[in-house]
Amino acid sequence: MRRALVTGAASGIGQAITARLEAAGDAVLAVDLEPDPAAPGEPFEADLTTRAGNRDAVAAAAKRFGGLDLVVANAGIQHVAPVEEFPEDEWDRLLALLLTSPFLLAKAAWGSLGESESGRFIAIASAHALVASPYKAGYVAAKHGVLGLVKTLALEGAERGILATAVCPGFVRTPLVEAQLADQAEAHAMPEERVLEEVVLVPHAVKHLLEPEEVAELVAFLAGPGGAGFSGAAVPMDLGWTAR
Ligand code: NAD
Repeated sequence: MRRALVTGAASGIGQAITARLEAAGDAVLAVDLEPDPAAPGEPFEADLTTRAGNRDAVAAAAKRFGGLDLVVANAGIQHVAPVEEFPEDEWDRLLALLLTSPFLLAKAAWGSLGESESGRFIAIASAHALVASPYKAGYVAAKHGVLGLVKTLALEGAERGILATAVCPGFVRTPLVEAQLADQAEAHAMPEERVLEEVVLVPHAVKHLLEPEEVAELVAFLAGPGGAGFSGAAVPMDLGWTAR
């Protein structure tokens, strides 16, 4: 049994990761801005754009479980706008949640992860940690940044027995992406299937969305004995996106 903390656990990928870890017998603190008591894991409310939110979440997990073996920094948001119109508050919010939160989580959890038999830090980054898309300046910059953070954690963690990896998915079928499909279908006056192929899935070589459970399976692998050889690595699961 691992003692885990997953952020953004009330929806999408984070919820699937929490369910997958619980199914393996792990204890999971399910951290979210709007925790869902009906979702898997032990709900814990925190605003991870704040220093206190990150600190409190780690302290709660370590206290409740008597230590911490795994941190999955997953919570995320998106904002799409051309750079000259990109709202500065949205830039700050993206950087706070996608980059500063993983740093604060790692900082607060470092002692506990070092004491664990097999401390693991996994960031749910994105294919956008490796390549860019237009109109996503904040998201792409933050995701590239979190990969740099993970590489640094891997080097610093080596002597403490802590492994750090960044999972880099392509587009995943989550409430966020599904809402975008509906909006785009309306905007383009085309059926959702066409939006999927002609708009969203253009960068995927293999033309379908990933499922949250597929990402959760990769996280379970990286967090388990099979993942012992991975540290400092970006692990793409992007249906050929970054093969170009
Ligand atoms: P989602 O919107 O389904 O879930 C995100 C969760 O984060 C929500 O439960 C939300 O309440 C929570 N959250 C938002 N702001 C928060 C805050 N300030 N404090 C605490 N929790 C907060 O999103 P998702 O699609 O499951 O994305 C999860 C992660 O995966 C993100 O980091 C995202 O960038 C990454 N990702 C998603 C995709 C995709 O296509 N869906 C692809 C690659 C990477």
